[in-house]
Amino acid sequence: MDYEMRAEYAEGSSPGEQDPQLEVWHITRVGEAMGLCGRDLLPSAVTQSSDAWGTPAGQPLCHSCGALYLHQVR
Ligand SMILES: [Zn+2]
Repeated sequence: MDYEMRAEYAEGSSPGEQDPQLEVWHITRVGEAMGLCGRDLLPSAVTQSSDAWGTPAGQPLCHSCGALYLHQVR
């Protein structure tokens, strides 16, 4: 199973904006728009490789997703 990270935006920000404000990164299965924590995310939200997990690029990270992800991959 492959995972990626998908952004949740701050209230009032959307992916279509020039410089949307990132709220937190969630972990999703590749191609899905729902975080492991159950949070619905925008299909148009930016994603990045799960390789960013645990690096500055992956911060801030949803705590629920972080914990669930650890259980999935180890
Ligand atoms: Zn999450």
